[in-house]
Order: sequence, then structure tokens, then C-alpha cells
Amino acid sequence: MDCIFCKIANGEIPSNKVYEDETVLAFHDITPQAPVHVLVIPKQHISSMADITAENSAVVAHISEVIASLAKELGLENGFRVITNSGEDGAQSVKHLHFHVLGGKKLTEKMA
Ligand code: 5GP
Ligand code: ZN
Repeated sequence: MDCIFCKIANGEIPSNKVYEDETVLAFHDITPQAPVHVLVIPKQHISSMADITAENSAVVAHISEVIASLAKELGLENGFRVITNSGEDGAQSVKHLHFHVLGGKKLTEKMA
């Protein structure tokens, strides 16, 4: 499958990693939109939040734990934002589930 985040997950495409375990990878976004902008992805290909089911939701719970821990490591004690764009109306450009973790400054109140 021609999926850029699958290629990052399997090492075919390099990334600036901040965390990795058996099922999850976190790396800096190539076009940061905040002083801290990290992407957290399941290594397994899941297209978007619209494809989460009882069978694969455990990795999303795990990603939540990874984000909480990473936020501390990345110095986001003052707060941060997690965004998951899904589908056409959600303006998702990479069709592999990913969570944007944004912080390092006071973010705008506007979300959409
Ligand atoms: P989306 O718009 O799908 O929610 O977000 C995709 C994100 O992936 C964008 O913020 C974009 O900058 C980032 N991105 C796209 N290609 C690459 C890449 O090859 N490496 C990294 N590190 N980030 C990427
Ligand atoms: Zn993929």
C-alpha cells in the first residue's frame, strides 16, 4: 500500500522520532504549526477515526497514554491540543490515523 505513514512506521522513510514502541510511533511533523508539533500514529494501518471498532480501539487507548507521557517529556505542562482530522470534511490529508499534538505556546481559541 502506498501509505506515507506506513513507510515512516516501517523505516522506509526517515522521521524525527520522539517515541516508539511495538504498536505506536511518535515523530515531529515535517511542517510544524506550533513550537511543538508531534504526530502520534498506530504502526498498524488504520485509515482514520472513522475506522475505529471494538477490535482495534485498544491502540487508541494506548496512544492516549503515550500522549500524556510525551506531553510531560516535551515540556507541555502548561497545556496542549490533540487533533485528529478525519475524512474529507475533516481535511485529513494523510489517510493513516494520526493524532497531532500541538503546544509550546498559547493556541488560538478557534478550532474550525
Ligand atoms: P492531516 O492534514 O492529514 O491531518 O495531517 C498530516 C500531517 O502530516 C501534516 O501536518 C503534514 O505536515 C504531515 N506530514 C506529511 N508528510 C510528512 C512526512 O513525510 N513526514 C512528517 N514528519 N510529517 C509529514
Ligand atoms: Zn498506513
